[in-house]
Amino acid sequence: MINEKMRELGAKRSVIRELFEYSKARKMEIGEDNVFDFSIGNPSVPAPDCVNSAMTKLIKEENSVLLHGYTSAQGDTHVRQAVVDFINKTQNTCYSANSVYMTVGAAAALTCSLTALVNAGEEVIVLAPYFPEYKVFIERTGGIVKEVLCNETTFQPDFERLEKAINEKTSAIIVNSPNNPTGAVITEENIVKLSALLNKYQQKFGKPIYIICDEPYRELVYGDVTVPFIPKYYDNTIVCYSFSKSLSIPGERIGYVLVPEKAQDNIAIYQAVCGAGRALGFVCAPSLLQKIIPLCIGQTADISIYDKNRQLLLKELTSYGYSVVKPDGAFYLFVKSPSGDGNEFSERAKKHEIMLVPSDSFGCKGYVRLSYCVTTEQIEKALPAFKNLAKSYGITK
Ligand code: PLP
Repeated sequence: MINEKMRELGAKRSVIRELFEYSKARKMEIGEDNVFDFSIGNPSVPAPDCVNSAMTKLIKEENSVLLHGYTSAQGDTHVRQAVVDFINKTQNTCYSANSVYMTVGAAAALTCSLTALVNAGEEVIVLAPYFPEYKVFIERTGGIVKEVLCNETTFQPDFERLEKAINEKTSAIIVNSPNNPTGAVITEENIVKLSALLNKYQQKFGKPIYIICDEPYRELVYGDVTVPFIPKYYDNTIVCYSFSKSLSIPGERIGYVLVPEKAQDNIAIYQAVCGAGRALGFVCAPSLLQKIIPLCIGQTADISIYDKNRQLLLKELTSYGYSVVKPDGAFYLFVKSPSGDGNEFSERAKKHEIMLVPSDSFGCKGYVRLSYCVTTEQIEKALPAFKNLAKSYGITK
C-alpha cells in the first residue's frame, strides 16, 4: 500500500511553489518583464568567486577517486575541522570536529536533528510565523507541532504565549533568526529571556528542552545588527546551518548540524543525529561540496545588494501607504494586508502581476511575504504596480 500521508505531501504543491509555477506560466503569456515574482527565496546574487575557484582547483588538483568518493558518514574530518575552526574563531568557543555532522543543506540538518530528538507524541514549539517545512519535518517524526505566535508588532517571541505552550511533553523549540518570513532577528535580551524560561521548565520537569536553532540566514544581517550565537546563552542548543544563502548555492545542498559539547547527552545526541542520517539515507553529504567549505568558509555573496533592495522597498512601500515590518536580516519583507486578509491581498496583487506569498502557510494570518532576493531592476520595474495596488485599496498617502 502506498503511504497516503507521503502521497498527499508530494501531490500537493506548497503555496510558494504554486505561485512560482503560476508566475512562470504568466511570463510565457505576457512576457518575462511584465511579471514581478517575489514568491521564492532563491538568491539572485551570484556565489562569491571562491566557490567556483575552489571547485575548479579541487577538480584539477585532487585525486579524482578520492574527491568524488564517499567521505565518512558524518562528513570529511578536515572539512568538519574547518567548520569548527571557523566557529571557534568567530564565536570564541572550543568545539571539536566530532561535534559536527555534514548535511544536505539546512533541510537535512533539521530533519536529522528532529529525528534525533523527538519521539512520537512529543511536542515541538515553533514560533509563528515560521518556515512551513518545519511542520512536515516535525510530523514525520510523529511529533506534534505547537505553534506560538510572536508579538505582531516586533515579531520577537511573545513570552506569555510561549510560557503557556511549554509542558512535560515539550521536547524542543525551533528558533529561526534571522527569520523567514519576517526578517526579524531575535535580540540578545530576548535570547537571555528565552534561556531563563527554558531553564526554569527544564528544572521543573527534570528533563532537557532543546533549542534547535535554524540559521541559514546568520550572515544576512544589515546595519549594525548582530545575531546572538544561542549555544553561548543556552547549553541545550543544537545548531542547524546551511551554506545555501550565505554562499548563494542553494541548489548544491550543503550544511551541517553542530551538537555542542555542553549540550546535555551530547554524545548520545550526536550518535542519534548520525543514526537519523542513516535511517533517512542522508549519509555522506555531497563530497565535492563538502571539500569546498575549507576554502570558502567565512566568505559570502555580495549581501549589500539585498540591503539595497530592502531599503528601496521599505522606503517606497511605506510611502505608498503599506504597513511593513522592518527586517533586520534575511531577504524577506512581511507586508500587512490592507484588507486584513493575506489571501485576498495575494490574489489582488496577482491581478497587478505581482506574486506575493500569503502568510497563512507560515502560521500567521493577515500578511504576505515578499522575497527581495531579486534584481534591484525588478523591484524598480514593479514599483508602479505596487503603487496601483495600494491605490486599489485607497491607502495611498
Ligand atoms: N530553514 C529556513 C528558515 C529556510 O528559509 C530554508 C530555505 O529557504 C531552509 C531552512 C532550508 O535550507 P536549505 O536549502 O539549506 O535546505
